[in-house]
Amino acid sequence: MKRIYILLSLLVLAVCCDPVKPDEGGNNNQQPGSDGKLSDITYQLNVYSFADSDGDGWGDIKGITQHLDYLDGLGATALWLSPVQTSTSYHGYDVIDYNSINPRLGTEADFKDLIDKAKEKGIDIYMDYVLNHSGRGEWFNSAISDENSPYRSFYVLSDNYTADVAAGKVDNFAGATSPGMGSWHTAAGGNIGYKGRLHFKLDWGKKTITVTETTAAAQSSNPSASKWLWVGSTGLVGLYPTGGDIHEITFDVDTDWGFLVRSSSTSWDNGTKWGGNGTSITFGQPYTLNSSTASDITFGGSHIWYFASFDASMPDLNYGPYAKASESPAFKALAASADKWINMGVAGLRLDAVIWIYQNQAKANATFLKQWYDRCNGTYKARGGEGDIYMVGEAWEETSKIASYYEGLPSLFNFSYWWTLKDRINKNKGNDFAKTILGFRNQYKPYRAGFIDAIKLSNHDEDRAGNDLGRDQAKEKLAGAVLLTSPGKPFIYQGEELGYWGTKSKGDEYIRTPVKWTRTGSVPTVALNGKVDHSMLTADISVEAQSESETSVLSVYRAFAKARNTYKALALGEMTEVSCNTPAMALWTMSHDGQTVLVAHNFGGAPVSAVVNGKKITDAIVANGTWSASGITLTLGPYSSVVLLQ
Ligand code: MG
Repeated sequence: MKRIYILLSLLVLAVCCDPVKPDEGGNNNQQPGSDGKLSDITYQLNVYSFADSDGDGWGDIKGITQHLDYLDGLGATALWLSPVQTSTSYHGYDVIDYNSINPRLGTEADFKDLIDKAKEKGIDIYMDYVLNHSGRGEWFNSAISDENSPYRSFYVLSDNYTADVAAGKVDNFAGATSPGMGSWHTAAGGNIGYKGRLHFKLDWGKKTITVTETTAAAQSSNPSASKWLWVGSTGLVGLYPTGGDIHEITFDVDTDWGFLVRSSSTSWDNGTKWGGNGTSITFGQPYTLNSSTASDITFGGSHIWYFASFDASMPDLNYGPYAKASESPAFKALAASADKWINMGVAGLRLDAVIWIYQNQAKANATFLKQWYDRCNGTYKARGGEGDIYMVGEAWEETSKIASYYEGLPSLFNFSYWWTLKDRINKNKGNDFAKTILGFRNQYKPYRAGFIDAIKLSNHDEDRAGNDLGRDQAKEKLAGAVLLTSPGKPFIYQGEELGYWGTKSKGDEYIRTPVKWTRTGSVPTVALNGKVDHSMLTADISVEAQSESETSVLSVYRAFAKARNTYKALALGEMTEVSCNTPAMALWTMSHDGQTVLVAHNFGGAPVSAVVNGKKITDAIVANGTWSASGITLTLGPYSSVVLLQ
């Protein structure tokens, strides 16, 4: 039985009100049909910090199962879980066993139970799949320690990578002469580190560094440096300018891998990170720095080098020549593990860091991804999955640079969506928003009919939307309302629906804060090593308190999610811009299967009016803030929104 929610109608002056039950939201979904799935709302959650079922300070899989009503109440029809496979870090992006569940998060039985219980509520489970790299586990240790290891080919290994790259032997680079990101690290060999007092003299003009053993007095790191060393477990050490292009420091070094030079204290991009070319330093001799390969600068020994796009703890996986990646042993092993989870009932995968699988080479990556998608979709269909498997890639780039990835995958995160939205809200300019979004979509069309534009605000790797919007709740509600009235497949990141804030400046943990379920209850902090901003986690920000307030951020998310799940025009509609001369007003229609809604948002902090010709502006299906209609004039209060049935 189809239920139609008329949340607000025929109100001349309306304030958002969606009095869902005050606990965890209840049923906020139409049961998704096959046609409804493409525009479903997905909730992105950090398993380690969402909900802790056993009080050990780690969020866990059972905690999710216990809060399915909350997710259902948010209108979610899918959950993207942070990696649940066994790993060594709290965040899980360094998987060491793709076939097992991280015991800190639960058991395989817990995972199966979550899949089944979620399915009963019309909620699919998407796994985060890390294909670019693994952690340093059994596979890696075997690969670097045994020339005959079956895992030798799984990693990007070389004993002379300068020559191997030049000769085109490094398949991972897909023909590029240097990586787009990352560096070579020593995996084995003699004594490559150093412990003792050293003097470092960086000649930035010549791009050389001279290291000398010394008994001179040690210096502390220069906090106002412009050039830094990155050393062992110490991390950042600031050099002192001593005239011209020279920067120096003397300190006690303790490193088991060597060091790197950095020209930025915040960026790891190539061009700001300087290392070596596969050789060790000689004390007292200038050593020439290299920014394109940027391998660790070591103190001796013989080396096997491995390549890592990200941290040294996450060696890149090697799939061989991209055109036949599916024949590589690493691909087969990863695919076999994916088969296991898909056959258990997983309905989708979120693929991490897909532009780095072949070092920012779009054609190579898209070719690889198509093979991966086809393989997984085959498994999904063979087990009787509905439609096609869902798969979304994290290609963290502007829309124009990632569009061609749609040749490989049905869905990609649209980072430009949020970058545009926050810019427009902060500039109080809404009347070019629809045109901009349609421009993104037009870039995708040539590459895949039926592309699924995965739209989002912030995620677990970005400063919180709350910060980007000045911790202004009115703007946060507006952003949520825009997200849930835009074309595409919206992702809600854990905490955004509660108005969380947090930045990466003191650690990524601060953008991955646990959900505060009740006014007085505690939150799990062990996984995050205590790095939780308790000043934010007041009683008022809790789910309990926000559920009881009709004007909370949470209630706005619930109301707009309910509208999206009720009106196919919102969930599945084609967007059409409605031109508007009021700069702060964003206006568009969404139409599907004979149903049309008019979407109106005020991106500004002052009331605005617009003459809306040829549209009905009387029948609201959902609203936030204040709005009114008089004749053909629509008026919206500050940062307010309304959706009007046509
Ligand atoms: Mg726990």
